[in-house]
Amino acid sequence: MDKLVCPCICGRVKGYFQRGKMIDIVKAKEIIDRESEGLCEMDEVSIVDSLSCVLFHDIYATTDLPPYDRSAMDGYAVRSEDIEKASEEMPIILNIIDMVQTGKVSEKEVGNREAIKIMTGGKIPAGADTVVMKEFTEEEGDIVKVYKGVAKGRNICYRGEDIKEGGIVFKKGFKVTPAVIALCASLGISRLRVYRKPKVAILTIGDELLDIDEELKDGKIRDSNKYALISQLNECGIYPIILERAEDRFEDIYKKVNEGLNSDFLLTSGGVSVGDFDFVKKVFKEVGIKIFFDKVAIKPGKPTVFGKKDKTIVFGLPGNPVATMITFYEFVRPVIMRFMGREDLCLKETEAILDEDITVEPGRMKILRVKTIKRDNQIFVSIPPTHQGSANLLSLALSDALLKIPGDKSEIKKGTKVKIQLL
Ligand code: AMP
Ligand code: MG
Repeated sequence: MDKLVCPCICGRVKGYFQRGKMIDIVKAKEIIDRESEGLCEMDEVSIVDSLSCVLFHDIYATTDLPPYDRSAMDGYAVRSEDIEKASEEMPIILNIIDMVQTGKVSEKEVGNREAIKIMTGGKIPAGADTVVMKEFTEEEGDIVKVYKGVAKGRNICYRGEDIKEGGIVFKKGFKVTPAVIALCASLGISRLRVYRKPKVAILTIGDELLDIDEELKDGKIRDSNKYALISQLNECGIYPIILERAEDRFEDIYKKVNEGLNSDFLLTSGGVSVGDFDFVKKVFKEVGIKIFFDKVAIKPGKPTVFGKKDKTIVFGLPGNPVATMITFYEFVRPVIMRFMGREDLCLKETEAILDEDITVEPGRMKILRVKTIKRDNQIFVSIPPTHQGSANLLSLALSDALLKIPGDKSEIKKGTKVKIQLL
């Protein structure tokens, strides 16, 4: 290897990236963070398309909510002093002088011993300070008998009691939920500026791969990574662009990787190792993707490639199904989440207690798939009784957390406190 310049895929100055140099997971994440900083952009969307997005701006109230004093009940708008002493035995009789249907207002003023019939949501007429529920009254022609005294102010929602005009309602960074959308509708805000969801393209690569509904043939397997990645992206609220699967041919991969570079993120799976037909890194270099690392000291997931061309972030994920999924969770998901301002959706870390002895070979950091169980208000973890190989999807499907074992550890005893990431 040249002393100064890396002669391989990246052509960068030695020390920054070297082919063959394996970096640890912390360093890998640092590089990804650094290279993907400041990528997020603003998008303006209709409120109906904003669910689960994150606000890119503060929202101020354009009006008071409610916009007028309104009745919380069907009943009669009255002056509280008139009906203070009303009871079952001694009902108070008031003259009904008008009616407020919702959507209409009364021009009349409630005077001494008078009432205006009112519906829930109707504007409180002048002179009234209370609403008596219909359930405590009896109407007879033009009069109403009130059987219960009601305190001043009862059953009225006052103008601006929910939100005051001009005040800040939500700050930048707030997640849009159905209630946020409903409130924006109340305020007359039909469009929102949010963190843009990235365009993510996925490309699976391999001559051995068949479509889901094709019949199995000797030497062939079905393409499961495509569906793993689609659903892992769906979990992030993203519907990816699915590129046509590539064969293990340089030209085919080249063409499809080029297509993928029109997106914000390109994720490929397979073809990143050292086999005779693993062309991905060569293609990345040829299309001008700058590669920052191509090996991480983790198992599974060692041959993970990370690069960038202009503003497109590129991950060459390993083809082994568990490795693909775990490297997605470890490296891809956090960047995509940050792009959307949704750091809250990164995998949650929690403490757990090992429920069995674990022995692994030292070397790379092991990322084990584990199953949690709650006992005595504690989380315990154990390894499902299946193969833990990089291709054994069942072990991942039966697990609900990941447990990282540092490379210098080969044994952890039952009862040890460990940190796990919940899937
Ligand atoms: P590779 O990374 O191309 O060397 O592939 C490693 C292993 O993962 C091989 O056994 C492949 O057959 C398998 N593999 C690669 N891509 C996929 C895929 N899309 N779905 C399922 N298995 C795959
Ligand atoms: Mg392959």
